[in-house]
Amino acid sequence: VARLPVVVTRTGSGVRTANASRLVRELHTAGPLTRSELAARSGLNRSTVGGIVWELAAAGVVVESASAAPSGSGRPSHVVAFAEGRVWALAAELSPAAVTVARVEPGGHIVAKVRDERRRGGTDPAADAELIGRLSAEWGGELGTMVGAAVAVHGIVRRADGLVRLAPNLGWRDVAFGELLHAALGVEVRVANEADLGALAEHARGAALGADEVVYVSGDTGVGAGVLAGGRLLGGRSGYAGEVGHMVVDPGGRRCHCGGRGCWETEIGASALARRAGRRRVGVAAVVAAARAGDRTAIEAVGETGRWLGRGAASLVNVFDPELVVFGGALRELFVAAEATVRAELRRSALAASAADTELRPAALGGDSALLGAGELALEEFLADPAGVGAGSAQTVP
Ligand SMILES: [Zn+2]
Repeated sequence: VARLPVVVTRTGSGVRTANASRLVRELHTAGPLTRSELAARSGLNRSTVGGIVWELAAAGVVVESASAAPSGSGRPSHVVAFAEGRVWALAAELSPAAVTVARVEPGGHIVAKVRDERRRGGTDPAADAELIGRLSAEWGGELGTMVGAAVAVHGIVRRADGLVRLAPNLGWRDVAFGELLHAALGVEVRVANEADLGALAEHARGAALGADEVVYVSGDTGVGAGVLAGGRLLGGRSGYAGEVGHMVVDPGGRRCHCGGRGCWETEIGASALARRAGRRRVGVAAVVAAARAGDRTAIEAVGETGRWLGRGAASLVNVFDPELVVFGGALRELFVAAEATVRAELRRSALAASAADTELRPAALGGDSALLGAGELALEEFLADPAGVGAGSAQTVP
């Protein structure tokens, strides 16, 4: 069984840790910055910034390099950046189509990624946990320190302990996936809903950057949403909020995997698009490509599925009054292909006051939204106490 390095974090003194955390969060979201930029952005004075940068450089977390002197000044300004290969997080995504694992470094960089396509049929949770361990095993032997691990699951996940309550498209019910991962990987792994994590990533560095009232709708076979209200993820009582795929849009409609009838995902999921296009194989990209090539049935399928996408989005706009609705996963491709139809349907169905200033956008991080969101979650402890890394860690840098 694959074992990953044990993560040891040390808690530093309060103020110093908080200041160091502010600086690395700036580097994490903005990329490399000079000391004066760090001071300006964080509100800390230059000597405090200098002290923290020195400490983080000594721990190998950041590196400073002289960049070209700003014109006229003659003094080179030093640029602070994360040291490549030093700190990393394990991020994984579990969808009905594939298991994907990635090595994510601060700054939201995916430096390695492995994808294992699923064969047809149900999936076994224990086998998936072992697969994640196996796919990422070689990274454990490399240099650098793994500071956390998180998995995005296409299903309803209990926030407290990572229990997957229901993942209809994986065939899972009440699976203690956090525990299985812990057993398979030997480290604590945080488990969260795919759409929630996609929303976090799009907010941190994607289409929702700078927006605090956001509905991120993600879908392939299943459909879910991550809702940001006031810049914070809406979790609900247990973390189940955002299951918009099971919002009933047609009470007399088709049976859904959840046991209900006429859920939104039965009209906008990949199976619905395939059914309308007269295809047996489910693949949004293939139908969209056929529509672009002029296939009549595919064009009608994309149009009709786009109308349902706009109708459901209208309800979300009425409920949440967001600045922005972002479409991720395979819905990104559907939205781009049927954009005019989606917009027209939204205007027709949503309250004018709510829809007037709402923007609709495709996800900016492509197919990596959920994976990068898992990276955000897995890096959280490091970002909260960056100097704690390296103290007693299993892996060291030369
Ligand atoms: Zn349903």
